[in-house]
Amino acid sequence: MNFCPKCGSIMMPRRKDGKMFLVCTNCGYEMPFDGKVGFSEKTKGLKKIDVVEKEHNILPITKIKCPKCGNDKAYYWTVQTRAGDEPETKFLKCTKCGYTWREYD
Ligand SMILES: [Zn+2]
Ligand SMILES: [Zn+2]
Repeated sequence: MNFCPKCGSIMMPRRKDGKMFLVCTNCGYEMPFDGKVGFSEKTKGLKKIDVVEKEHNILPITKIKCPKCGNDKAYYWTVQTRAGDEPETKFLKCTKCGYTWREYD
């Protein structure tokens, strides 16, 4: 959240002439906005592999049989393949051999 340096009210991002600005909701004070605060565009265009790599260390483990080596534990995560109206795809990665596969319901 950003606050106005002039009056202390909340500032909202607004696009003007192709650039982002923060505009005070109270007094109208404007200042340039570098877009790094993370509003709606944060997860847009993120490739699947980015998600996997980023969350790799904190993946939960589920009990499921690896189709390759027979190990019964695998990390799992879900990926939203497209827009919100499509169901998430569940991916699994064997804790032993590292084999990765996706689960279909
Ligand atoms: Zn202000
Ligand atoms: Zn395995």
